[in-house]
Amino acid sequence: MNSGPASATTPFDVEAVRAEFPILDQQVNGHPLVYLDNAATSQKPKAVIDAICDYYTGYNSNVHRGAHFLADKATRRFEQARHKAAAFINSPRVEQVIWTRGTTEAINLVANSWAASNLGPGDRVLVPALEHHSNIVPWQMVAQRTGARVHPIAVTGDGEIDLAALEAGLDERVKLIAVGHISNALGTVNPVQTIIALGHNVGAKVLIDGAQAVAHTPVDVQALDCDFYAFSGHKMFGPTGIGVLWGRESLLSAMPPWQGGGEMIETVSFDGTTYQGLPYRFEAGTPDIAGAIGLGAAIDYLNALDRAGAAAHETALLDRAIEQAESFPGVQRIGQAHQVAGVLSFLLEGAHPADVGMLLDQQGIAVRTGHHCAQPLMTQYHIPGTVRASFAFYNTTDEVDRLFEALTKVKHMLLPEVK
Ligand SMILES: *Cc1c(COP(=O)(O)O)cnc(C)c1O
Repeated sequence: MNSGPASATTPFDVEAVRAEFPILDQQVNGHPLVYLDNAATSQKPKAVIDAICDYYTGYNSNVHRGAHFLADKATRRFEQARHKAAAFINSPRVEQVIWTRGTTEAINLVANSWAASNLGPGDRVLVPALEHHSNIVPWQMVAQRTGARVHPIAVTGDGEIDLAALEAGLDERVKLIAVGHISNALGTVNPVQTIIALGHNVGAKVLIDGAQAVAHTPVDVQALDCDFYAFSGHKMFGPTGIGVLWGRESLLSAMPPWQGGGEMIETVSFDGTTYQGLPYRFEAGTPDIAGAIGLGAAIDYLNALDRAGAAAHETALLDRAIEQAESFPGVQRIGQAHQVAGVLSFLLEGAHPADVGMLLDQQGIAVRTGHHCAQPLMTQYHIPGTVRASFAFYNTTDEVDRLFEALTKVKHMLLPEVK
């Protein structure tokens, strides 16, 4: 068990935290696993694994429709998880939390429902050039259908959104700004609060892609004053297959359903069908019940964790990684934003990122290499991709050091002539 919120004097106990994540304790290619691919997906604590297992062994049943004991229990736990998710992001009402498969589906929901019925020829959607493909492609698809246009917002060489360029592009034609809270490719923490206010000044709605942020920082949708907020369970220590679209109630209740089927209807007849209210009108079909319950367990886990201590520990890890990267001959950091979280993206001069990743893997170190679903950004930097080490609170300073020890070996293997 973790010990709950710690007092200011108790140091963050990373070994106790690691003991909650069984997957971390294993050998890979003859070396202890160093898992530095948390931006792709995070590992799950025992509490989450147990919650999923308990559901399938004890009360697996469909929700909202069965008049029997197991169905009641499953429905109760499923809806309790929605309450947990609502509290987690400080939603005014629980009905504003819509279950999706993840961030990607949440954004597609907004594109297919809100955007498809609110955008027209001449309208604009602004998207920063560093966004994840999940926050670019759905807008392109709906733009094609509606005659609207997707305009990239420039990103500086340091990997920050160019706010002056954003402001210059803002006028009443802009109906939506879709922006990530934290970049998965570079770790840039974007000034979303400023961007939301700027968008609202011209009457635009603002959607925040929170896929990376939820693992690193508390999120308060009311303080942000955003219109939509999307995130995935699996990047915040919960299961895959479940995520959340949060929306402003006035927008959600005016939006048409986007998928038809069970759960989302009130009555069905061939003369016409009527739909449920929020949130069910956007949840066609049997949902990922175990996933929602597992995400609820992940939220419980985070609430019981010393989150301030965890954040300070993560900052220390990233600072140490950045310091070592900057003093490592031949390593070039990609993205040097003032505010970064969780991610070190880099290149080893003369080596392809994929080769670096493969040789790190041989030493038990899991990183991601490639374009990180942000091809427009890689194109802007004229690079094929990067090596990305991404951190969670269960990583250790020793693991950061082992990354760079391994990188020294990689360099000797790939570039024996370089000192
Ligand atoms: C992972 C990620 C997504 C996509 O999330 P899915 O869980 O794959 O739907 C979108 N945006 C960002 C910033 C991400 O990191």
